[in-house]
Amino acid sequence: MNGDVLNELALLRELGFTHLDLSRRVDESTSRQEEESSTTGRLDDSATSDFDALRAEAHDCTKCRLAGTRTNVVFGVGDPNADLMFIGEAPGRDEDEQGEPFVGRAGQLLTDIIKAMKLSREQVYIANVIKCRPPENRNPEPDELDACRPFIRRQVELIQPKVIVTLGKFGLQSLTGKAYGISSVRGQWLDYNGIKLMPTYHPAYLLRTPAAKKDVWADMKKVMAELGIQF
Ligand code: URA
Repeated sequence: MNGDVLNELALLRELGFTHLDLSRRVDESTSRQEEESSTTGRLDDSATSDFDALRAEAHDCTKCRLAGTRTNVVFGVGDPNADLMFIGEAPGRDEDEQGEPFVGRAGQLLTDIIKAMKLSREQVYIANVIKCRPPENRNPEPDELDACRPFIRRQVELIQPKVIVTLGKFGLQSLTGKAYGISSVRGQWLDYNGIKLMPTYHPAYLLRTPAAKKDVWADMKKVMAELGIQF
């Protein structure tokens, strides 16, 4: 067994798996997902150009002080026609350097969670509510969240995912504009403009609190069921 497979199995065990159902092969389910997403939820030409225009607007944005310290604007990555969208907080150092969300340690854990859901980063869309790195990874300020909020809301409007997963408090609160407490709503379906929203813990929190991984996995199983992915 190669190292990748062993790592995957170790993660699944940490996420609370007690056995694996091999009666249905993962690659069959992945290709079914690909087939489904090729026939549903396509961005039409005008939405694609709106998405490109939004990206260009974000790249030129100077609406808050974070524009002065960023290396790259971290707009988002993945399939703009995805059924599933993950929304985090803000880029860290690695993301700022590479211009891509969730590529550092927390990002690796998110990637593993996505794989455990029988999906890939390319099949989902991943973005943050803040597009530029706050210096020293401090929490975003309220005026920075306000300045950036139109970008994430417009991304959701254009992508029209079937399910949104918010990662941590800032993603949830800033997208919805509501002061939800993450511990009290985690794992419960919420509604965001007619789209099902599952709030869960941020992967950075899971790195500090591995015992919470099983809660996140329980939440992701609800998301998989909603999307018709067998586990
Ligand atoms: N944490 C986030 O919320 N987003 C990232 O892109 C990386 C870490």
